[in-house]
Amino acid sequence: MSDKYDVIVIGAGPGGYVAAIKAAQLGLKTACVESWISKDGKHKLGGTCLNVGCIPSKALLEISHKFEEANHGFADQGIMAKDVKIDIAKMMERKSGIVEQLTGGIAGLFKSNGVTTIQGHGKLLANRQIEVTDSDNNKQVYEAENVIIATGSKPIQIPPAPFKEGYIVDSEGALEFDEVPKRLGVIGAGVIGLELGSVWARLGSEVTVIEAQDSFLPVVDQQVAKDALKQFKKQGLQIELGSRMTGAEVKRKLVYVNYENASGKQEQKFDKLIVAVGRRPYTDNLLSADAGVNLDERGFIFVDDTCQTDAPGVWAVGDVVRGPMLAHKASEEGIMVAERIAGHKPQVNYDCIPNVIYTFPEVAWVGKTEEQVKADGDAYKVGTFPFAANGRAMAANSASGLVKIIADEKTDRILGFHVTGPQASEIVAQGVIAMEFGSSAEDLALTCFAHPTLSESVHEAALAVNDGAIHIANRRKKK
Ligand code: FAD
Ligand code: NAD
Repeated sequence: MSDKYDVIVIGAGPGGYVAAIKAAQLGLKTACVESWISKDGKHKLGGTCLNVGCIPSKALLEISHKFEEANHGFADQGIMAKDVKIDIAKMMERKSGIVEQLTGGIAGLFKSNGVTTIQGHGKLLANRQIEVTDSDNNKQVYEAENVIIATGSKPIQIPPAPFKEGYIVDSEGALEFDEVPKRLGVIGAGVIGLELGSVWARLGSEVTVIEAQDSFLPVVDQQVAKDALKQFKKQGLQIELGSRMTGAEVKRKLVYVNYENASGKQEQKFDKLIVAVGRRPYTDNLLSADAGVNLDERGFIFVDDTCQTDAPGVWAVGDVVRGPMLAHKASEEGIMVAERIAGHKPQVNYDCIPNVIYTFPEVAWVGKTEEQVKADGDAYKVGTFPFAANGRAMAANSASGLVKIIADEKTDRILGFHVTGPQASEIVAQGVIAMEFGSSAEDLALTCFAHPTLSESVHEAALAVNDGAIHIANRRKKK
């Protein structure tokens, strides 16, 4: 048995590494167990987010957006850029460089905060003992007063489209194509399907997205989703809703995909197929039978509102527990748990977690959709403002999309804040802050916003909730 720790975290993604740093900052003797080994054989911290998720996907989204703009958006602005080409190897090198810098940064943060890194696969035994198996299969047992499980999630594989290296890939494979596929199929019009579909479409692929559900982005406010769908179609993304996959097979270096929809049986051939139908909580070989930690009916580690499991002193955060699979939700939970172990009593406000889809236009929201508010049965009012009437958006050549604010009819308190358009990912933070402070639409309407900014659309939408926006015909809508 090795030294005893106050806290051992299993997993160094945004849930685990943030929890470990916060615990160490609070004076707790902390270690973090991590098993990630990159394709070049290096131990890496940072989890899905930094290695194969948020960061590399955003690097490719940024680069491909610039390429798309140079090809299709510059001429309207008087910039003549002829024969713009993409060097895929160089683009991937840049993406890998960013990942390398950030994952190395976590190692530096662990060092400076005094977090011990333990390399290997952790398994929770009874009484908060953790057996760690390293890459040479050596085993060592550690003990802690508190354990935080932050083992994340893995892509779901579906029987009609089993992964086949180089052809039928998950999101990780889709971040590594060494050339632009001429025809790209994507199964699932969720966040990953739309983001990675957009990357390759901008670089020249003909992209078809096959989605099982009849409605597009059903979790998103439908006014916003419809607006975004129009833009995606304009960009050439072919989105087939209500389509049930029946099979995918690799023949003669092509992927033949069969599915059925309202128009009957369909067959398409693609050079590559991305399967992006969701992720599952990752608990493989994690819990011994006597660890005392239970899973819920969908395989997530069962926790209460404060991320405590059924085993005393064992906590779980991030993708491996209920709630949205988002890096910032994982980190919020990590901080809450570290603080609770140190004796404080913070709470995550699950009603104020923003969501962003990093397409162009971006789609971002916090709080309830109009459909949810309607279903709740309470009276509400809505204000919207289109970026088409915003001077800064026009100047930036990106005047599409809208801001939509939903407020309680009686109290005027903001219930939902939705944006599709340029920099929606940044603008939504204003809605998060407003909702965290329990603001009314009038509070935002009485706030002074700099001119000219995209954020003025927030001001105008807030004005539209009550007395009317200034720069457009009154869009006030009482329900
Ligand atoms: P993870 O990041 O999955 O980390 C878990 C870690 O635990 C891993 O490093 C794993 O190796 C380690 N581990 C697992 N089991 C063990 C074990 N038994 N012993 C030791 N170590 C173990 N979210 C956003 O908020 N914004 C985005 O833009 C975004 N983009 C994404 C893009 C893609 C392509 C993908 C796939 C995901 C994206 N996500 C995004 C989701 C985000 O990556 C996850 O929500 C986030 O990483 C979850 O953090 P986590 O700490 O719970 O788990
Ligand atoms: P998702 O749940 O967002 O979307 C999956 C889509 O696949 C859904 O629309 C679903 O209806 C569809 N689907 C499921 N089975 C299908 C089938 N057999 N045939 C056709 N369609 C099918 O999941 P995802 O896009 O894989 O992303 C996984 C997780 O990663 C998400 O929970 C998301 O929160 C997270 N993520 C977040 C971001 C971000 O915050 N920007 C980016 C990427 C991933």
